[in-house]
Amino acid sequence: MNIAVVGTGYVGLVAGTCLADMGHQVVCVDNDRSKVQSLLDGIIPIYEPGLEHLVKRSVHEERLSFTTDIRSAIHGCEVAYIAVGTPSADDGSADLSGVFAVAREIGGYAVSSLTVVIKSTVPVGTADGVRAALRDSSEIPHHVVSNPEFLKEGTAIEDFRNPDRIIVGCASETPRRVMERLYKPLLRIGKPILFMDNRSAEMSKYAANAFLATRISFINELARLCEQVDADIDAVRRGAGSDSRIGLRFFFPGVGYGGSCFPKDVRALQFTAMAHDLHLHIVEAAEVVNLEQKRLLARKIFARFGPDLTGMRFALWGLAFKPRTDDMREAPSRVVVEMLLEAGAAITAYDPEAMGEASRLMGDKVRMADSSLEALDGADALVVVTEWNEFRSPDFEEIKQRLAKPVIFDGRNIYDPGDLRAMGFEYYCIGRGKPQYPG
Ligand code: NAD
Repeated sequence: MNIAVVGTGYVGLVAGTCLADMGHQVVCVDNDRSKVQSLLDGIIPIYEPGLEHLVKRSVHEERLSFTTDIRSAIHGCEVAYIAVGTPSADDGSADLSGVFAVAREIGGYAVSSLTVVIKSTVPVGTADGVRAALRDSSEIPHHVVSNPEFLKEGTAIEDFRNPDRIIVGCASETPRRVMERLYKPLLRIGKPILFMDNRSAEMSKYAANAFLATRISFINELARLCEQVDADIDAVRRGAGSDSRIGLRFFFPGVGYGGSCFPKDVRALQFTAMAHDLHLHIVEAAEVVNLEQKRLLARKIFARFGPDLTGMRFALWGLAFKPRTDDMREAPSRVVVEMLLEAGAAITAYDPEAMGEASRLMGDKVRMADSSLEALDGADALVVVTEWNEFRSPDFEEIKQRLAKPVIFDGRNIYDPGDLRAMGFEYYCIGRGKPQYPG
């Protein structure tokens, strides 16, 4: 099938590339000229494991191309995806200006009937708005499908090719059959398509993200209580999570959730509820707990060293909001950095993939190290913010030698407290017993 994917970011580029890999003919469109130029030059503008290889192969086999020209891209297409960003507006609602701008462009340029697939995460009722935008800009009747995406950065390709389910919200048989043809390779390997109305499809995405965010905030809140009552959250998560109704996945304490989805989607869902005079108490609590959790690691540093960190320097391992991505949107590291800098500290950071993006955001306020070990040299403590695999089994003797003080703040509980203390470290983590600050 001939497909245009408008918006070539983390979702659009992965979706477009995987659809091309399934045998479709795909044109990826973006209005960011530099992004399209780098793709045309064979440079992938984001870090996503496995993506570069797949893009190059599909481009080489002439099933995938890139352009800034939406008119030419949708010419001859049967399906047009909308995969542009839907960031938070100032009031917490989802900013849909990109979605509607693209819908109007598609309507204005379409020369035949299209199935317009909304991949972006959009609040309930957006498909109706897109239908109206298409009607206003086009004489031709088009179909609008809500097909929210559930991929996770870091495993995006695997997630797209191996989804738990594909959600398709539509209003009639014709787009339903188009979507079945589109995802046929996934149906063949037994992946279910759940058909529903557009509104329920839109809500499903927010329900999933709000639930996952709540799960994280729930374990984080319990971790704080564990510190007070001298219990170990790791044991507690195993104890509770082994119940098959609860499960262990996505049930880790840490420094709070970040990224381009959970924070903004949680806010947008609350906004939708408020517009209908409803208060989503649980969802609101998930956000409140998360904002506190993002400050927890810096608070532990203040508890250890006092509120004035002038003259001190900290080594930060991990900047991306999670491992295997370079995405820094709403990353907990940004809160840690801000709080430490405000307290007068200097920071040397290392991240395997996100240092370019971090430098763009933070300028020269944070020094980027050449390696994780180099970041440690002379620092007063190591602060682990993102659990990249390469941070999991370091040479602790070397860490001790390089640090000015053998102190580790571990925001992801990746080390064993007993082992570290036996090696002579002062070790602070999340919810594993009462922290013992010296003095
Ligand atoms: P992104 O910011 O990485 O990419 C969006 C792209 O759209 C950018 O390249 C931007 O230049 C382009 N764009 C914006 N307006 C445009 C226009 N008018 N015409 C052409 N291109 C335009 O965003 P993303 O992370 O890929 O997210 C896209 C959507 O998918 C969002 O709604 C997000 O909530 C949702 N989503 C994201 C993820 C994720 O892990 N990133 C997962 C599931 C769903």
